[in-house]
Amino acid sequence: MFLNNDNVEISVVVPMYNEEPNIDYLFERLVSVLVRLNMKYEIVCVNDGSKDNTLKFLVEHHYRNPAIKVVNLSRNFGKEIALTAGIDYTTGAAVVPIDADLQDPPELIEQLIAKWREGYDVVYGTRRSRQGESWIKRFTASAFYQTIGKLSHTPIPPNTGDFRLLDRRVVNALKQMPERNRFMKGLFAWVGFKQTSILYDRPQRYQGTTKWNYWRLWNFAIDGIAAFSLIPLKVWSYLGLTISLISFFYASFLVIRTLLFGIDIPGYASLMVAVLFLGGVQLLSLGMIGEYLGRVYDEVKGRPLYLVRDSYGFMPESIN
Ligand code: UDP
Ligand code: MG
Repeated sequence: MFLNNDNVEISVVVPMYNEEPNIDYLFERLVSVLVRLNMKYEIVCVNDGSKDNTLKFLVEHHYRNPAIKVVNLSRNFGKEIALTAGIDYTTGAAVVPIDADLQDPPELIEQLIAKWREGYDVVYGTRRSRQGESWIKRFTASAFYQTIGKLSHTPIPPNTGDFRLLDRRVVNALKQMPERNRFMKGLFAWVGFKQTSILYDRPQRYQGTTKWNYWRLWNFAIDGIAAFSLIPLKVWSYLGLTISLISFFYASFLVIRTLLFGIDIPGYASLMVAVLFLGGVQLLSLGMIGEYLGRVYDEVKGRPLYLVRDSYGFMPESIN
């Protein structure tokens, strides 16, 4: 059970993977914002199996400021799961996930809180601009949001990352979602509640490099679509039906033509085209089924979402 024994009002969650060069500046800005808000805060940092000195730095900060707490995962689990772990450890009445690279300006937390005080349960930050991103990144991102918008029943707000404020109610709802495929933007949207957004300009990364390459983004996109739409699984029956109907009419045409005009042999090219096309379609549809089946397999195994090696700054009762 959750014991909110030190009445934290706001919990900030920071997933970190090799963020050593950003840590000092991040805490400097974040803490000054939180102090200005004059609310009881905690900063839950998740070390997602970093290979640099992120953990050492975090623990040093924890000893200087006990409101900075550290969850050290047993290895790299990826941002989405690191974030889930961090959220599980929070006790605040409001929870704000934020990136360690200062791409989500901590100063905006004041605006998020203001909206929260107006009575919203989820306040998300939508990017007005994407500075320092290539046109390919912008194009693929917009293609992704359009596709998922068409395929999914859950409206997923475009250009919105994980930077947002969540009321404790929403956090409790999220914790009831046991799935291993943590497409957080989708989960945040799926839960519903009273949601609103604020606009902001997303600056470039402060230090270090992004951990996302196109292959990772592609897989992230497939994860999102598979988690929030069954259409890719279902279209094949309609496609198959259409192809069967067309071939039925074509067969009837061939029978009648043969009866009227006799048999002609040529047709190798059209035969090859038909065989190869159908072969391709069949492999594609099998692949789609594989995508879903693989995810079902992952869920069924029921492994824990993440493993914690050690943690700093939490009361034993508040860990669940
Ligand atoms: N991150 C993480 N685990 C990973 C990759 C990234 O915890 O495996 C964290 C990272 O430290 C940062 C946040 O997720 O705080 C966003 O990562 P990044 O800046 O690389 O992503 P981008 O801003 O390019 O989308
Ligand atoms: Mg970033």
